[in-house]
Amino acid sequence: MKKHLLFLGAPGAGKGTQAALLSEINSYLHLSTGELLRKEIEMNTDLGKQVKSIINKGELVSDKLVLEIVQKNLDKDNKGWILDGYPRNLSQANSLSEVLIKKNQPLEIVFYLDIPEEVLIKRLLIRGRKDDNEDTIKTRLKIYKRNTEPLIEYYKNLSLLEYVNADGDLKTISEDIRQKMA
Ligand code: ADP
Repeated sequence: MKKHLLFLGAPGAGKGTQAALLSEINSYLHLSTGELLRKEIEMNTDLGKQVKSIINKGELVSDKLVLEIVQKNLDKDNKGWILDGYPRNLSQANSLSEVLIKKNQPLEIVFYLDIPEEVLIKRLLIRGRKDDNEDTIKTRLKIYKRNTEPLIEYYKNLSLLEYVNADGDLKTISEDIRQKMA
């Protein structure tokens, strides 16, 4: 079974939900950069103060900051890990690749959760997180298309990409993912 996984997809595609479920089942680390950043904001740390307004505008935090967070968390003892929300652009993908080569833990599979845009917007508006208002959603989708979507091709070229239809019920999607990582 694969142990080093990555979830790719637009905001609202269900990466966080599926990654949480899968990490619980397999006792893997779930590494969501969004969650980790929100925790820093909640705890009002120096890092949290730095990123709060960026996140609430729907923009990307600096590559350097997220890389530090990812590295720190990948160093924790684990049976496997799932990256969710990282990388979000090509520069982050290249940094990640370097880090993983050094750790001798290369990525084994990238799940691309595909879903129509109108479904995404509906889901995000229902979710109603602090950065889930209509303006922020527009910004996040724009940034996703420009910066993150090219990673689909990037991982396809590395023969790591697995396509998942994410417009369905939670359980069906989860089973599809587990079958593909077996
Ligand atoms: P979503 O994918 O639904 O937008 P996330 O929880 O993954 O939610 O991310 C929330 C916010 O955290 C992003 O809009 C961004 O501001 C910040 N963030 C998360 N991951 C990264 C990353 N890899 N690089 C830069 N900023 C990030």
